[in-house]
Amino acid sequence: MKLTFRALIILSFLLSSLPGLASEPWQQWRIDASSDPDKWLETSQQWIETYDSQRDFSKLAMAYALRAEALRYSGNEDQVQSTIEEGLRFANIADDPVATALLRINQGWYFLQRSILNRAAASAAYAVEAAKASGNNNLFIEAEILEAQVFHDSGDVARALEILESLEAEQRSDLPRLQLEFHSLIGAIYLDVGATGIALEHIRDAYEIARDSLGAWDRSVAEYNLARAYARTGELSQAREFFEQALQTSRSINDGLGVAYAQMRLAEIEHQQGNNDIALTLLDKTLPDFRDAAAHPMEAQSLLLKAEILLAEARLASAKGVIDTTQSLINTLQDVTLKQRLYEIISDYHQQQGNAELALQAYKTSVDYLLERQAEVQNKQIQEIMVRLEIREQEATNELLQKENQLQQLQLQEQQTSNYLMLWLLFSGAAIVLLISYFLYQQMRSRRRYAELALKDDLTGAPNRRAVVRHCKLGLEQVRQNKAALALAIIDFDYFKQVNDSFGHDVGDAVLKRFADVTQECLRRQDHFGRMGGEEWLLVLFDASENDAELIFSRILNRMNEVEIKGLPRDYRVTFSMGFAEATADDTFERLYKRADDVLYAAKERGRQRLQIAPLPPAQNG
Ligand code: GH3
Ligand code: MG
Ligand code: MG
Repeated sequence: MKLTFRALIILSFLLSSLPGLASEPWQQWRIDASSDPDKWLETSQQWIETYDSQRDFSKLAMAYALRAEALRYSGNEDQVQSTIEEGLRFANIADDPVATALLRINQGWYFLQRSILNRAAASAAYAVEAAKASGNNNLFIEAEILEAQVFHDSGDVARALEILESLEAEQRSDLPRLQLEFHSLIGAIYLDVGATGIALEHIRDAYEIARDSLGAWDRSVAEYNLARAYARTGELSQAREFFEQALQTSRSINDGLGVAYAQMRLAEIEHQQGNNDIALTLLDKTLPDFRDAAAHPMEAQSLLLKAEILLAEARLASAKGVIDTTQSLINTLQDVTLKQRLYEIISDYHQQQGNAELALQAYKTSVDYLLERQAEVQNKQIQEIMVRLEIREQEATNELLQKENQLQQLQLQEQQTSNYLMLWLLFSGAAIVLLISYFLYQQMRSRRRYAELALKDDLTGAPNRRAVVRHCKLGLEQVRQNKAALALAIIDFDYFKQVNDSFGHDVGDAVLKRFADVTQECLRRQDHFGRMGGEEWLLVLFDASENDAELIFSRILNRMNEVEIKGLPRDYRVTFSMGFAEATADDTFERLYKRADDVLYAAKERGRQRLQIAPLPPAQNG
């Protein structure tokens, strides 16, 4: 597990540090299609006619692939599937794995968006196979991410993680789209384990990539995901803001399904804030769109929400109608979660009707579904991935907690019911409380572990790059508001390769560990440090003058060499160089880092084992 998350962090770092250039022309066309799908519907149609008459099946298949993508973006739902099938026919004739992979990838996302998971899984498998055959690395990564996303959405987070791990070997991708998909998925996984702070960072990263480098459709999805993350962390006003952005973006490209998704979530928020009328109006707008797009699980979710709201408003007759419709829809789907929620609502309905017996029966069914879900999850996992299992259990915990509350309420109302029912209640109540205690314990453990892992350097236990950069960015925020003065120092060991070469890598490691311990002791309370990578370290210093910089530099250097390091000759002195730069109000982290790095380089040039201070930059405007 440790390795997994480390790999993810490294991976996301590598991906995020690379420039975003599309290598093949069709990669750029895809981005364009996302921004202006209507135009690309025309263009692709012309290409189809041209290549059809030229009998160039390979290009024809590509034209269909682009068309399918443009259709998806513009919400022309009824044509997507047939276009993909047509394209696959030509890709097959031309034996063109690139076009096949692209078409299958689109097919997979199309199904994913409608939560038709088994078909999405099949498409993803085909996509991976074709992408592999094409030898195009970016396409392969894209197909694999799709596959990981399918596993994630099916609740098999372990498999999703495995795929992401295995992709580490393929980490060199320069496509913003892939970077975006990575960040979204990693963010989703962190959300699942409850590490919401880090999850939000990744999802925000994804959003920024979409905003800066991708088209409107991708941006709308990223906005939607960010809003969902905010909604899950209870930041409703932020959630609302981004759902509204997503709504606008989807509207700008006439993406009906995207509009429906955003409106449905906005309805959820309105309901949570007690604006039931607005919520109902929104839902009535979304329902036909989900129906037309055959997005059945989303349609079911909207219906469930509608029933819930009607019940909250005590409009029992209308609620009954909606519940019946929902029930027949949900019966056609294989989704235990939906079923569980449905029976909860049915139970609520009977309760309001004053029919305790039926209420209890429905409630019991809902608990059964909950346990079934739990069992489903556990079946999939094996002993060695137990730790990953905690991820899912944690989700279940939250639900179980809610259930416990509801159970207690039911118990209150149920005092005149028969002894048998009383007994059943008590029994299941006790079982649930037991389960909850167990899961709560697991949750606490895993949450703590994930949160720590994500911010710690494995070798030295010091804060890692993500942690120290975050501190620096927070500090810069304060500088901007004139609330603090801040400086950044970069430390890089001198001739560290020689230490490794002469005394062994383990001794090099021991030096790094010593540095972490010593620096921890030398810094003041308000300061932070962390390992940037390799033998390079960052110090974030508040209210530090040049004098302070000199003090810190020599204090750490002396303490490093005060006690012998095992494996190093007694008289060997480890040294390092330091670049120091004070932040200005219009500094970004990158700008400040660059100034410190430049003087670090100068310190090396001048003979090492020294501190070099950066001059203040000329004032920035705008
Ligand atoms: P310079 O004075 O110019 O900085 O010389 P240098 O040898 O330190 O050169 P550079 O900074 O480019 O090399 C860093 C070396 O640090 C390369 C690598 O062997 C070593 N290194 C990086 N990470 C680790 C680590 O985790 N453990 C150990 N033992 N060595 C590491
Ligand atoms: Mg060095
Ligand atoms: Mg170095």
